[in-house]
Amino acid sequence: MSDLSVATRQTEDTPSVSFEFFPPKNEKMNDKLWECVKRLEPMSPHFVSVTYGAGGSTRTRTHETVSRIASDTSLTPAAHLTCVGAPSDEVIQTAEDYYEAGVRHIVALRGDAPQDKDFEEPEGRYTCVTDLISDLRAHRPELGKAFEISVACYPEPHPDSRGWEADLAHLKAKQDAGADRAITQFFFEPDVYFEFVDKARAAGITIPLVPGIMLQPNFNGLKKFAKMCGADLPDWLHKLYDGLDDDPDTRDLVTANVAAELCHKLSDGGVNQFHFYTLNKANLALSTCHLLGMKPAPAEAA
Ligand code: FAD
Repeated sequence: MSDLSVATRQTEDTPSVSFEFFPPKNEKMNDKLWECVKRLEPMSPHFVSVTYGAGGSTRTRTHETVSRIASDTSLTPAAHLTCVGAPSDEVIQTAEDYYEAGVRHIVALRGDAPQDKDFEEPEGRYTCVTDLISDLRAHRPELGKAFEISVACYPEPHPDSRGWEADLAHLKAKQDAGADRAITQFFFEPDVYFEFVDKARAAGITIPLVPGIMLQPNFNGLKKFAKMCGADLPDWLHKLYDGLDDDPDTRDLVTANVAAELCHKLSDGGVNQFHFYTLNKANLALSTCHLLGMKPAPAEAA
């Protein structure tokens, strides 16, 4: 076995991780989410974030989920907030509501319009996420200063990209408006990330660019998602999932190993922060963390 096997490559410095969840749609999914949150809590993540449905469609559920994380767990919650589908004052009010619920971290996004032919954007909306970031910072001094603000970034061009120069200028504008960190869309080749970081640093972007690591074991679902967001699925990945359509257990093992191997390669290049798209599945995030050499915090004595 080569020196590069996972067993011999557990990172000496424990990486800092964050976990992303989506808000549950029903009682069964709710139970699954909370089981996931409780199982991941001992990994002591830097923060855990909760997504916001297209066009703000999960506003109430996102709010309930982040509020409960703030009140019932030791975790630091981050609330995703999108500009699409609501006037700007409503978006700012949602941020106020998060603040009142004890949330101090916003993942600020433009978002995507829902795929509903009757959907119409309201008057007075944010047309650019940089305006949301600036307003969050300026709105009320105590609120503006209190929030940590993360944003999205794209190592492979987003479908709306107007070219690298415009993308990097836009990311720089997010930083200048007050973003503290950018989390990348998922990718599978380490060089895609390293080349992006080089371009970003050359363009004056200094904030952490935290790699987003996908833990989606449903390869057909991943293909659809990749198509929507412009991420490449390399041939070797197609081959790894080939023949596993009816074998979810093996797909889980492959998924955790692919994620851990990617993290190891990123770690070899100096990366020590990872954001995991957990899809509310604790086993994949836990096994990936374990493969990275992370250990859960010991349970406190009762
Ligand atoms: P932006 O970065 O503002 O724009 C996307 C693309 O358009 C980029 O290529 C950008 O460079 C280009 N662009 C936009 N404006 C300009 C400009 N003025 N000049 C030049 N180029 C411009 N979606 C949800 O609905 N809910 C979520 O909770 C959610 N969470 C996410 C979390 C992460 C970490 C990531 C990576 C994505 C998430 N998304 C979420 C998806 C996201 O909403 C979509 O990718 C959306 O299409 C873009 O939102 P954004 O804030 O990244 O947009």
